[in-house]
Amino acid sequence: MRVWVRVTAIRRKTLCLWLLLLGFTLVTLALSDLFNNRRPEHSHQKPGPPRRPLQRIPNAPDLEVIVDSRDPALELGVDLAPLKSLQEDQLLFVLSTQGTNNLPRKKGSYKVLLPGANKDSRAPAPLTHDKVEKVAQLQLEAMEGDVGFSAVHKYGFNEVVSERISLHRRLPEARHPGCLGEQYSESLPSASVVICFHDEAWSTLLRTVHSVLDTAPKQHLQEVLLVDDLSQHGHMKSVLSEYVSHLEGVRLIRSNKRLGVGGCRTLGAARAAGEVLVFMDSHCECQKGWLEPLLERVAQDRTRVVSPIMDVIDWQTFQYNATQWPARGVFDWRLDFYWESYPQLQDKDPDSAVRPVQSPVLGGGVVAVDRHFFQSVGAYDPGMLLWAVEQIELSIRVWSCGGTMEVVPCSRVAHLDRQHLPYSFPDQEQLQRNKIRIADTWMDAYRKIFYRRDTLAHFIRQSESPNITERLRLKKSLGCRDFHWYLTTVYPQLYVPQDRPTLSGELYNVGTGSCADYYPRRPGPQGGSMNAAPCSGTGSQHCDLNSEFEVRWGPMGALCMDASGERVILSPCPAHRPTTSRLQWKFIKLSGQLVHQQSQLCLEVAKEGSLTQSSPRDVNTHTKTGALLLRPCTHHPRQQWHFEQLVAPKGA
Ligand code: UDP
Ligand code: MN
Repeated sequence: MRVWVRVTAIRRKTLCLWLLLLGFTLVTLALSDLFNNRRPEHSHQKPGPPRRPLQRIPNAPDLEVIVDSRDPALELGVDLAPLKSLQEDQLLFVLSTQGTNNLPRKKGSYKVLLPGANKDSRAPAPLTHDKVEKVAQLQLEAMEGDVGFSAVHKYGFNEVVSERISLHRRLPEARHPGCLGEQYSESLPSASVVICFHDEAWSTLLRTVHSVLDTAPKQHLQEVLLVDDLSQHGHMKSVLSEYVSHLEGVRLIRSNKRLGVGGCRTLGAARAAGEVLVFMDSHCECQKGWLEPLLERVAQDRTRVVSPIMDVIDWQTFQYNATQWPARGVFDWRLDFYWESYPQLQDKDPDSAVRPVQSPVLGGGVVAVDRHFFQSVGAYDPGMLLWAVEQIELSIRVWSCGGTMEVVPCSRVAHLDRQHLPYSFPDQEQLQRNKIRIADTWMDAYRKIFYRRDTLAHFIRQSESPNITERLRLKKSLGCRDFHWYLTTVYPQLYVPQDRPTLSGELYNVGTGSCADYYPRRPGPQGGSMNAAPCSGTGSQHCDLNSEFEVRWGPMGALCMDASGERVILSPCPAHRPTTSRLQWKFIKLSGQLVHQQSQLCLEVAKEGSLTQSSPRDVNTHTKTGALLLRPCTHHPRQQWHFEQLVAPKGA
């Protein structure tokens, strides 16, 4: 019995203890709920859907429009892919557990979970500029493994590093001190910043948008117009619409077919309300004060098309690198675009650091243009599909049809230069087709120079004609000048090859069956050792022995065959005539010898392994059949050459 009583007493005590524990737990839970509701940033709840729907910005009925770009009024004659971009997926929200640094203020306590981001709701803190390099180093080490590599592979840049950098990072000041005191008119025209994108990474796209919002003065910024060019990635869909709906002054429109860069920008322009259009790539970051100098130059002359200095964001580290001034945009005879440093303009005049410089071409990264002038000059060529060279076409047209182009040094925007393009092209020859449109619309007889240096374009052109009737009509109605005027007035620095029959083409060596070649170690005009290699047939080995007896090389014709000891090298051609005898060659058609005028020695392909010790570092790893050397003249087939024209003189 006693035992029974004791057992019952113990049970009662245990029950009391349990009840006490339960009560305590309930009180704690209730208190913690109260606490959490007041201070949501301290919540440790698991991610889940938001309890209340987010509030959209009022008075924004035109926030997101799906544009049927098959509307003939838009004249966007492309037909590539069906509507896929608006399928719902990946609409994920989690309760925010940290401050709203990276988010629009109107989001309250909710945070968009970035696709692919850490599933732990405690996302890594944004990085400050000085920490970027450290993280980048870690990422580079990680690239040995799969994660880092695929992070680069998907977009052509290290997305992991990008995700760790604040969407609001400030670029270090890189403007010339002379720019900081510049005064701009109070009544500048309003700007619509048109940002086209196709499957851009989340962080780079949003950093572009925030960068514009954070740097452009409100009174000059009409809107940021995001134009989705049929993106397929999940995060570009509802989650982006949702995010954008909380940003004041940002609109999102979506095309229901793939338009390409030019078509997409033309669509944005048709929907923009600002007086000045600023086309901007979807992976840019703006320097403080970038917009005002551009608007001022356009306001002064509505036919002026302007660009900031394009600084560079490194694709591995996301480090910001300021571009050296003066710089301008140019293209070569293969119709490839480059930013070129232009030291000729560096004079002692202190104003030169702040004075805009006229530019034969502007890059596509950021271009500002008066909206009416853009429309009247023919927008972007709707026949230019997908990507590439649309900015060269626009540039030649602007100059030829009454406008001008310039780079404004007090405006700086950084562009992410990717390691590789992240898109695949359904049509491998699209690039050539776009170039053919430029050649046939704008280059008159000079187009032959292009076709000889891009033989793929030549062969495509032989089997099909571009439909450029409308563009030729536009050219006529605008009274545009010819390409000769453009070359002599706007871009006189571009060497015009003579391309005489039997004295230009691939330089073919009879003894080895190979062609003279050159692989630049770094792109640019610095030059280096020449060698013989299999004949490419693409036009990349085209050279031109001109009436000055120079052998001009490269798509700009800016490199000259030269000699350094017994090695044959390429070096930058002199800007002024007459040229030196060191750069002069005589071709003896009968024997096939190419004689160096200064030394009277002959061009020969070295036997493999017969290189002298003088410059072993110069031996090119691509060399298949030996270096090019100067040797006493003989009749050996290794000294016999002829110029093979791949494209008949009457061709194209
Ligand atoms: N883009 C587009 N549609 C396309 C290809 C590109 O809207 O079919 C966008 C792209 O997202 C970018 C801009 O057009 O914002 C310019 O393209 P990209 O940056 O690839 O050109 P790059 O700077 O490499 O010359
Ligand atoms: Mn770009």
